[in-house]
Amino acid sequence: MKVPILIPNIFNHPFTYETSLKLKLGDYVIVPFGKSEVTGIVWDEFEKNRNKSFAIKKVLKKLDVPSLKKNTIKFLNWFSEYNMIPRGMALKLLLLSSKAIEKISSEPYEQFKVNIKKNKIVLSKEQKSCLKKMNISNQKFRVHVLQGTTGSGKTMVYFEALKEIINKGFQGLILLPEIGLTGQFQKKFIEFFGFKPAVWHSGITKKSKEIIWSGIANDKIKVVIGARSSLFLPFKKLGLIIVDEEHDQSYKQDEGVTYNARDMAVARASFENIPINLITAVPSIETYDNVKKGKYSLSKLDQRYLNASLPNYEIINLNNSKLNSQSWISKETIEKVNFHLKKKDQVLFFLNRRGFSPHVLCKKCFTSYSCPNCSINLVYHKKKQNLLCHYCGYKALLDRDCTKEGHCEFIFSGPGVERISEEVKKIFPLKKTTIFSSDTMNKKSSEDVLEKIINNEIQILIGTQLISKGFHFPSLNCIVVVDIDLSSQGHDLRGAEKNLQLYHQLSGRAGRTGKPATVYFQTYNLDTKMITDITNRNPDIFLDKELEIRRKNNLPPFQRFIAMIITGGNERELEKEAYKFKNFIERAVVGKVLGPVSAPIFRLKRKFRVRLLIRGHKSLKVQKSLAEIIKKFKFPTGMKLTVDVDPINFN
Ligand SMILES: [Zn+2]
Ligand SMILES: [Zn+2]
Repeated sequence: MKVPILIPNIFNHPFTYETSLKLKLGDYVIVPFGKSEVTGIVWDEFEKNRNKSFAIKKVLKKLDVPSLKKNTIKFLNWFSEYNMIPRGMALKLLLLSSKAIEKISSEPYEQFKVNIKKNKIVLSKEQKSCLKKMNISNQKFRVHVLQGTTGSGKTMVYFEALKEIINKGFQGLILLPEIGLTGQFQKKFIEFFGFKPAVWHSGITKKSKEIIWSGIANDKIKVVIGARSSLFLPFKKLGLIIVDEEHDQSYKQDEGVTYNARDMAVARASFENIPINLITAVPSIETYDNVKKGKYSLSKLDQRYLNASLPNYEIINLNNSKLNSQSWISKETIEKVNFHLKKKDQVLFFLNRRGFSPHVLCKKCFTSYSCPNCSINLVYHKKKQNLLCHYCGYKALLDRDCTKEGHCEFIFSGPGVERISEEVKKIFPLKKTTIFSSDTMNKKSSEDVLEKIINNEIQILIGTQLISKGFHFPSLNCIVVVDIDLSSQGHDLRGAEKNLQLYHQLSGRAGRTGKPATVYFQTYNLDTKMITDITNRNPDIFLDKELEIRRKNNLPPFQRFIAMIITGGNERELEKEAYKFKNFIERAVVGKVLGPVSAPIFRLKRKFRVRLLIRGHKSLKVQKSLAEIIKKFKFPTGMKLTVDVDPINFN
């Protein structure tokens, strides 16, 4: 008998094998491929144009793993078509290191054993009514959005919904942005359910991955809390997907195989024909649009826990309260902060810039330090004592001679969190402070620091946007946005939406225990409309406006964007080739081809970058037509094309 076997590699089609084994759709097998043996899966259709000159080889072995469900196979086929990724690469996301895991002894699963204990948590009337709306479904596909202010207890509502699903014998998946996978969330889970969830993200050990993969395939593990890649686990009896913080841009995988995990979660739920819940404080534009169109149902939680009110907003006009040179905190701000510190409030200075200074140049020779691999300035990190490229990781020391007589004399232009931290220490010498950024908080010791922040043993934080992600700091009642003007720069089509999300999340960190809280914005800008817009109590007003702008300008979610980046070592050749490519695909693509233009970061990791953009209808036809024509174009060696469907970053 002949069978089609899909193999986790760069091919878009299954290969044909011969077998005398009794195989059915979705079975895991070992087959010879080239000189090696690989894991493959019995797929749903044969290779269309089989190359007859290859001899058909035999399947070596069937693996003892429950076969992959037909619905999951359909999902992977669709996934690969939508994101323009070879089917084999889609399969690779599901298989572990190109290998399926055969049954392991059931002992390791014991730690995840479902044993739901009673808890003391009682839902409020509002929470109960949301749960009721969420549960109107007969276990079939539907998308429900739970929108609630930060601190309103959304998690408890979807935990209840999940509990019902587990009690019915189904498996559940909670997707979180990677950064949200902290001990804090697991603690909350265990407090509610009384058992341990399986936690899945890029940082867990290979052994844990094997145990969880196999436990999911064998239906021994019931709940996974995971980052975006957990979406590809081979669930045997998936009954519910929850996407928490659905608006979070980190659901978009930007490098390698690009996809948006939130959108793919909705697709997977649809193929599995199960319900999915999207949870957010402020929905993404796409989700908001789907709610307005009636495609998604909605419930809202407006009350904050302990009836805590949302923080107040105050604008500190830097034109009236001038800053000294090399200083970024105004006198007026210091007065406000002192007022909060006297009340034992914790204070956060927010600046979305890592390191000490984003731009270093020499007073004598005027050369600035930029990355030799990328067209971007190096950021000076004072604590690490080096200059760093945030894009490629290039490091350099701050010592250079520009003249025969001697060293460069450096000017540091603009602040990062390290520099603000130095200023804060000078102004408030008696207070304990800490920097809260990915440079300081990704270490083992950070659990300790977190504990100290929670207990208000540290009075002042200086943080990047990392702090906006779901942390619960009970005493934080004062936030100073050091430079709001920084946020309004840039030409990103999602800039306004990103700001709305960021500042909503950020202010959600404040005033969580009922004490009054204030967010202060330092600005030079006399037109403060942007600030009033993003801090409006009712984000719908902003989202409606933003949707209107997108509609008028033919932007997503009304049109589909597909970004293409061509990279190469030779600038002139690259440009020539990009025009050739555009002319070649233009006649065949169902959509408009825009560009080529130089990418905003023109040089990255030693390669020049040119962008093209396709704008078309929201139909798979766009992807199909593009995939068909791209296949026929041959780029010269050294040049590479990457395709990103529904791009979020336009670097
Ligand atoms: Zn670089
Ligand atoms: Zn110099």
